Amino acid sequence: MYPERVELEEGLNLLLKVGRQTDIEEVPVAEANERVLAENIISKENIPPFDRSPYDGYALIAADTVCASKENPVTLSIVEEIPAGHAPVCRLKPGQAAKILTGAPVPSGATAVIKYEDTSFTKDTVTVFTPCKEGSNIVLTGEDVKEGELVVEKGRKLSPALTGLMAGLGYERVLVYRRLKAALLSTGDELIPVGEQPGPGKIRNSSIYTLAAYLRQWNVTASVMGIEKDHAQRIAEKIREGLNSNDLMFTTGGVSVGDYDMVLEALKLLGADVLFWKVRMKPGMAFVGAVYDGKPILALSGNPSAAAVSLFLLGKPLIRKMSGRTDYRTAEIQVRMLEDFPKKSPSRRFLPGTLEIVDGQAWIRFAKKQGNGMLNPMRDCEILGEIKAGSPPMKKGSIIRAYRFF
Ligand code: AMP
Ligand code: MG
Repeated sequence: MYPERVELEEGLNLLLKVGRQTDIEEVPVAEANERVLAENIISKENIPPFDRSPYDGYALIAADTVCASKENPVTLSIVEEIPAGHAPVCRLKPGQAAKILTGAPVPSGATAVIKYEDTSFTKDTVTVFTPCKEGSNIVLTGEDVKEGELVVEKGRKLSPALTGLMAGLGYERVLVYRRLKAALLSTGDELIPVGEQPGPGKIRNSSIYTLAAYLRQWNVTASVMGIEKDHAQRIAEKIREGLNSNDLMFTTGGVSVGDYDMVLEALKLLGADVLFWKVRMKPGMAFVGAVYDGKPILALSGNPSAAAVSLFLLGKPLIRKMSGRTDYRTAEIQVRMLEDFPKKSPSRRFLPGTLEIVDGQAWIRFAKKQGNGMLNPMRDCEILGEIKAGSPPMKKGSIIRAYRFF
């Protein structure tokens, strides 16, 4: 038998335990942004590969300038000009300088670079009015990346900057985890496709659009399978079909305790292992976690906001883990409430809201409309505020835990 009414963390851990990582593929680094890296990137090179000037100016020997002042300037003779992309030819001797351009290698013998604007110069000489510090304006070899350094860790989601960093190290292709594939099935006798006009008692199959859109935002290939009636055998068939070509499955509707709630029955008919039923939270109490053929099934409530909250709290960390990410758990923040929450909370609540920064503090503004069955609460949702089970009505300014939604 499976546990009923589990804590969120317990349910999540049960799902995380069964979620398998996807396999690995190689992609051009130009297409690697937002993908999860499946190898450690260890630098085989230094960046920069040579000591380099960050400015247009003059490379010189700092010791030549120790006595330089407005009254007693030091004049050095220019022995060469080094544009970016060219190697210096000379080795500087005392009294000599080289004209150097941004990004060019510092010539040997030079111990500092002085910017153009801090000198006066002719074609053949440069005059310096203050002492230069040893090493000033020289970007040292390997200052950015050292040879042998672990630059990007396996399991990390790649960003534009990391993509450029890997390209800078000569990686034309990198190993990433394959994108997860998820199937979504809506269940309910009342549902009709969006393009149709609802007859008596019918409503449009709307919430699946939100769920699929979130999944796509999280880099999952989401296949929407349409609507199935409240019929256990048919739902079971659809889940089997969905899992045939996908890594995991989401369903909506039919997971409460009503006469027409057929999804739990369907999972049993299918022969899936039910991991748990119902989660101690509001919204999102109605939920079944299951596994079939090693693939997780998350059966969500039909209520649009409840489904979104469950998807976020239970689905997102699972998706991240299966996508290969090492940082798969949802990050928590502390926020203050911008308004009172007037109701008692016998069970743990998650309230959608927006994040506002006031006087350098993070605050939550709760959504105007709160209700499991509504489409509206999630519309501007950036964070979910958590009210602990057993809380009395809460005052404005109270500090609560919250989870960033994106
Ligand atoms: P259920 O989870 O089947 O008990 O459904 C809970 C509520 O959500 C009911 O009012 C349903 O009509 C509604 N609902 C179920 N599925 C959807 C859906 N795909 N889109 C919008 N509302 C839905
Ligand atoms: Mg229903």
